[in-house]
Amino acid sequence: MELKITCIPGDGIGPEIVAEAKKTLDAVAEKYGHDMQYTDILMGGASIDVHGVPLTDEAVETARSADAVLMGSIGGDTTTSPWYKLAPNLRPEAGLLAIRKALNLFANLRPAVLYEELAGACPLKTEISEKGFDMLIMRELTGGLYFGERRTTEENGVRKAVDTLTYDENEIRRIAIKGFDIARKRKKKVTSVDKANVLDSSRLWRAVVEEVAKDYPDVTLEHMLVDNCAMQLVKDPAQFDVILTENMFGDILSDEASMVTGSIGMLASASLNDTKFGLYEPSHGSAPDIAGKDLANPIATILSASMMLRYSFDLDKEADVIDNAVKQVLKDGYRTGDIMSDGCTQVGCKKMGDLIVERIK
Ligand code: NAD
Repeated sequence: MELKITCIPGDGIGPEIVAEAKKTLDAVAEKYGHDMQYTDILMGGASIDVHGVPLTDEAVETARSADAVLMGSIGGDTTTSPWYKLAPNLRPEAGLLAIRKALNLFANLRPAVLYEELAGACPLKTEISEKGFDMLIMRELTGGLYFGERRTTEENGVRKAVDTLTYDENEIRRIAIKGFDIARKRKKKVTSVDKANVLDSSRLWRAVVEEVAKDYPDVTLEHMLVDNCAMQLVKDPAQFDVILTENMFGDILSDEASMVTGSIGMLASASLNDTKFGLYEPSHGSAPDIAGKDLANPIATILSASMMLRYSFDLDKEADVIDNAVKQVLKDGYRTGDIMSDGCTQVGCKKMGDLIVERIK
C-alpha cells in the first residue's frame, strides 16, 4: 500500500521524536511491503524563523494533499523565546489552530492507557491501578462553548459575561459515527458523556447518539453525566472503552484521564475529519527544557504513528505490531528518563526508537 504522509517535525523535541516515529513506520513498511512517502513541512516556531508566520498556505496545501499528517510538537519556552513577543496570531500555537481549522479536524481522540509496567506512575490507589485501563476519549473539537457567541457587557455598573453552547444534530451525528466506528475496532463499548439533566444541548446530544447507536447493534452504549464521569475516571477507570463527549467536557476529562496514567511521554493523540484523513501527534508539548539532548521519550509519537496506521489506513495488524513492540520494550525494562524506575535500564530517545524497531523486525 502507498502511504503519503506529511510530517511536521516542529520545535523543541519535535524533530527528535518524529525521526524515531519514522524509523518505526519504515520498519513496519519493510516488514509488510508498504511504501511510505514522507514530505516535511514547517509549522510553529520553525516556520516563523523561515517565513515569518507559523504556517504558510503552501504548507497547508502539502498537508491537504497527503493521506495523513504526523506531527511532533510546536512551541518554545513561553517566557524566554522571542516567538512569544509576537502578536498572538503569529505565535507558534496559531499554526496548530490554523491547520486544525483548514483540515476540518472535528474529532479529537486521546487514548489513556495504563501499562502494567508503568503502574507505579499511576497516582491512583493500587487496588484501582492494578486492574489497568485502556480507554479513548473522543472529544468534539470544533463546536460547543468554545466556538459559540460570547460577549461581556456592563449594565448599571454591573459587568456581565455570556458564552453560548450550541450544537446542531449534524455536528453531533458525525462525531457519534466516528465514536461508534472506533469502538468497533476496540472493546465495542461507548460511554456518551453529557449533562442531560440540565442542558438542552446535552438532551439533543443524547437523542442523536441514540439514533446513531441503532446502526451499531454490536456496540454497547451507555450514558453518563459528566460529573459522575469525572468521579468514575478516578474510582474505576477500567470500566471505560470509548468516552464520547462534547468539546468542553472532553477538554477537561481528557486531561484528567491523561493524568491518571501518570506518564506524559506515553500519550498519543489524533484529530480526524469526516474522511479517513487525520493529524496524529503526541499529547505533550515541545519540551524545550530537554530539546536536542537525546532525552525525550519518543513513545507517544510512535503510538500516534500506530494510531495513524489503524484509523487513517485501516492497517490494524501493522498498528498492533507497533503497540506490541512498545509493550515488549517496557517489559524488557527499558525506560527513558521521564518514566525511569528502580531496576530498569535508562536509554535516550534514539536508543528507545532502535529498541522498538528491533522488536518490530
Ligand atoms: P511540555 O509537555 O512540553 O513539557 C512539560 C514537561 O514534560 C517538561 O518537563 C518536559 O520536559 C516533559 N516532557 C514532555 N514531553 C516529554 C517527552 N516526550 N519525553 C520526556 N519528557 C517530556 O509542556 P510545556 O512545558 O507546558 O510546553 C512547552 C511548549 O510546548 C510550549 O510552547 C507549549 O505551548 C507547547 N505545547 C505544544 C503542544 C502541541 O504542539 N500540540 C501541546 C502542548 C504544549
